[in-house]
Amino acid sequence: MPGVFNFSVDQAVNDAREAHSLGVPALILFGLPDKKDEVATGAWSDQGIVQQAARALKREVPGLILIGDVCLCEYMSHGHCGVVRQSPAPLSLGAAAEVARPVPAQFEIDNDASLELLARTSVSLARAGVDIIAPSDMMDGRVAAIRRALDDARFENTPILSYAAKFASAFYGPFREAADSAPQFGDRRSYQMDGANLREAMREIELDIEEGADMIMVKPALPYLDVIAAARDRFDLPLAAYQVSGEYAMIEAAARNGWVERDRVMMESLLSIRRSGASMILTYYAKEAARLLS
Ligand SMILES: [Zn+2]
Repeated sequence: MPGVFNFSVDQAVNDAREAHSLGVPALILFGLPDKKDEVATGAWSDQGIVQQAARALKREVPGLILIGDVCLCEYMSHGHCGVVRQSPAPLSLGAAAEVARPVPAQFEIDNDASLELLARTSVSLARAGVDIIAPSDMMDGRVAAIRRALDDARFENTPILSYAAKFASAFYGPFREAADSAPQFGDRRSYQMDGANLREAMREIELDIEEGADMIMVKPALPYLDVIAAARDRFDLPLAAYQVSGEYAMIEAAARNGWVERDRVMMESLLSIRRSGASMILTYYAKEAARLLS
């Protein structure tokens, strides 16, 4: 994505310092581990890249609020958000030529095994100084599991910002490439939400609140402004919206072609998200918007 980079810890500290000086109140951390495996070690290890970055940021930019994205996909060799159980390949009784045909991988996500790793990741991030835990995985029961684990580890005051309505969306494409987290097989539709169903989105948000979410998030933003507005009407918690990579990339591409006025389109898109009812916006444009707003 133009203008978007993966940072080392040092570079992240410099960028965070600049963002904070411009008036950006918080940043969200995503990690790219050296090694990926099938238990997402890089997510929950106290030496994980996000844990290292969080410690450095807390030390160097103490006033900045740190949000830790909690998911396993960036740390899993297969790129799924949870622990994968492969089921045996279906028996093929055909002729030799048919047997040799590749059989599509059958797999399922082990929800409970995933919850344990997500909880472990959350506690490790809190210990490293992350202020807000933001689970983005969409496993069932994750908010309750994370809340319990944080409380047990004496992080009762660490809030949870849940990606409560996260739709299966093609707008995530550029991020997945940047974070090298595209699934190696299958897709995420079994655990992300159907974009056609507003009431299901409300139900998911309600469940997350019942489980203990302190703040809720809708993702993506622009194609789901009605979901943000409906959530604003219905729930009284702080509401965040995530302007995702594809939303950013569309504006950048059009601007680079000279088809739209970049800054105005950028601010108008942010304004629409704000108007729909979001009290917080996660955006690649945070620094530039802060610059224009000051
Ligand atoms: Zn994920």
